[in-house]
Amino acid sequence: MAEPRPVPEVDRAAAARKAVERRRARASLKRDLTTRVVTPQSVLERATADPDSVEGSMRITDFLLALPAIGAGKRDRILADLHISPVKRLGGLGVRQRVALSQWLDSRFPLLQPRGERSRLLVLAGPTAVGKGTVAAHIRENNPEIHLSVSATTRAPRPGEIDGVHYYFVDDAEFDRLIAEDELLEYAVVHNRSRYGTPRAPIDAALAAGKTVLLEIDLQGARQVRKAEPAATLIFLLPPTWDELVQRLVGRGTEGAEERARRLRTAKVELAAQNEFDHLIVNEDVAAAAAEVVELSSSSAR
Ligand code: 5GP
Repeated sequence: MAEPRPVPEVDRAAAARKAVERRRARASLKRDLTTRVVTPQSVLERATADPDSVEGSMRITDFLLALPAIGAGKRDRILADLHISPVKRLGGLGVRQRVALSQWLDSRFPLLQPRGERSRLLVLAGPTAVGKGTVAAHIRENNPEIHLSVSATTRAPRPGEIDGVHYYFVDDAEFDRLIAEDELLEYAVVHNRSRYGTPRAPIDAALAAGKTVLLEIDLQGARQVRKAEPAATLIFLLPPTWDELVQRLVGRGTEGAEERARRLRTAKVELAAQNEFDHLIVNEDVAAAAAEVVELSSSSAR
């Protein structure tokens, strides 16, 4: 029998580097699943399409544990029910196992269903620091055919902000009046600080003139719009990955550990709201994300 050939040193180093990279990619995928940046269904799809991918090489046990609200006990019961061995990897499931897992995922994590025809009232929301303001500003500059709602706020203007363009800067008494006279479609206290609200009249006028209207507001506001106008088109802006959002939230590192932890907790809660939305758009690139919003505006007919 021939002697096994020694593995050259360079190959071994490259293989070790590759293994570290894959471990990192798997850890990042787990975080994205836990924080719902990606859907479990899309991970299973990619694993099936390419068993050698990061998704394909993920253990079924790790996959299930990464899903929201699944602990070790539940995981083992699910595996038994679906007749899947715990040593399996996602890319190595048999056809019947894959179908069973996919059906279970759909029942447990229903995908957003198209809700029929939606109105030309578009709401852009998302977690803090995902960049919805930047996407909205891009649309304001490049798509004058879309009416971007100007909110009223009690916060002070920042340098460069123009009253009537970026916000209507009002005092508390005026904000109280807007509420009392039912002039706001929605309003909320944002970041425990100032009040923000959407004036109703300009929106009604723009919609009546056949225009598309875009609101860039926080999650509380988006929920109020859903209640007031059930046919509104709700768009949730997502970060490309959880790590990217963390970078944007705490990247500058100017906050203390407590503030950092608080922001990350808030981001997780905010990300979980995506299931309430009609469309998810990933903000990988501002111009591309803005183009997707504009595209949705032309496809919502009413
Ligand atoms: P900023 O003060 O940085 O301009 O905005 C802070 C937050 O307020 C952003 O998340 C923005 O989406 C939200 N916001 C701006 N206008 C409104 C509004 O009219 N209603 C609600 N609910 N949130 C708003």
